[in-house]
Amino acid sequence: MRDDNFLIEQNARAIWHPMAHPADMHANPPKIITGGTGTRVTDIHGRELLDAVGGLWNVNLGYSSAPIKAAIASQLDALPYYSGFRGTSTAPSIELAYELSQFFAPEGMVRAFFTSGGSDSVETALRLARQYWKIRGQADRTKFLALKKGYHGTHFGGASANGNANFRRNYEPLMPGFFHAPAPWTYRNPFNETDPAKLTQLVIAAIEDEIAFQGADTIAAFIMEPVLGAGGVIVPHETFMPAVRAICDKHDILLIADEVVTGFGRTGAWSGSRLWGVKPDMMCIAKAITSGYFPLGATLIGQKMADAFETDKTSFGAIGHGYTYSGHPVGCAAGLAALAETQRLGLADNAQRRGVELAAGLQDLLARHEAIGDVRSQGLMAAIELVSDRASKKSADKKVMTRIAEAAYEEGVMIRISGSNIILSPPLILTSDEVGTIIAALNTALASL
Ligand code: PMP
Repeated sequence: MRDDNFLIEQNARAIWHPMAHPADMHANPPKIITGGTGTRVTDIHGRELLDAVGGLWNVNLGYSSAPIKAAIASQLDALPYYSGFRGTSTAPSIELAYELSQFFAPEGMVRAFFTSGGSDSVETALRLARQYWKIRGQADRTKFLALKKGYHGTHFGGASANGNANFRRNYEPLMPGFFHAPAPWTYRNPFNETDPAKLTQLVIAAIEDEIAFQGADTIAAFIMEPVLGAGGVIVPHETFMPAVRAICDKHDILLIADEVVTGFGRTGAWSGSRLWGVKPDMMCIAKAITSGYFPLGATLIGQKMADAFETDKTSFGAIGHGYTYSGHPVGCAAGLAALAETQRLGLADNAQRRGVELAAGLQDLLARHEAIGDVRSQGLMAAIELVSDRASKKSADKKVMTRIAEAAYEEGVMIRISGSNIILSPPLILTSDEVGTIIAALNTALASL
């Protein structure tokens, strides 16, 4: 094991960090995290922090879940890896697929296709959507609709669905056939509409218009996050996702719910689709499926698609898609333990309760600090959007955001900066006291600006 100085020096040199400018790494070296217990992590200097980021929206059970660690260790002893490609399978993958279909029965999910993470789950859903329409004899249905500000990972399919230029421009040209509607975002939208129900109607009308323009019979699927996460925790009005479902039904378009963040309780419900009372045709899940203890994801499939594939008599039914780590037995063992713990601890319920307290704390901060333009939250996912001027809503600059993150860190709370948003997505085992700690640290950090 190399010493700390070696690690600190090579951290800025040997690694290219995701979502960072390589040239910026020496000036702003990433913190090196060396330990974690419960809701807290420790950095290389021994400083303990309350992790208000929850790893990366995923460590719902915190850092010391004994059942997940035990499940991983015993699966490593029994069988560290075997393939799930045609011809072989493993016990944990079969069991987890079954448990997921039980857990997500209210959403109508009946099958699981395992992946290695969220981007893979999105890619899988996009591919299966196209394949479904080939099986159904409608090969022209190849296009996808998505929301501006949406985030669907970094593969070319998902990046093409992404609604944020930061994840698109440097990689263009992206895939043809992806079209975007305005986000249902009351704070900023092209209609200047602040009423969420009215905004829903305007966005839905824009979607209808785009479908008419493209031709419904050319569209394979609509993909959306039930609550937009990386785009700044944009919480649509409760009528929005049901209205999207209705449009999709009307035009026979598949609905893909990207639940990579919203799955497993973060919104205060067991899924974002369940929160809004919607049954999608596919669900993309990852992140909290193992609480971050092992890279794993899945694309869940509803009955209509399962029927089409499983009764297929065309030449299009065979799935020519999959990952070496689809159904990784260690990942699936971790997933089984995480799912059992998540249910045993009633994490959705805790996210809902702590989320109410967090929302009250955010309102308090909004009342105290001019630098805040807007606060948004749903369960235990939240954004605080900073502006340099409330009237013009001009976004706060990068320097201000970096200062806030450093100040919160000094106060013992890890937060995440995304553009001009402070993003909070703490472990779902959070206590009321810890909600108070996060708000107090942010209050001090904002006062220091
Ligand atoms: N979809 C959504 C909604 C996400 O938030 C993310 C990651 N934050 C992804 C997909 C991609 O997941 P991953 O980073 O595991 O590939």
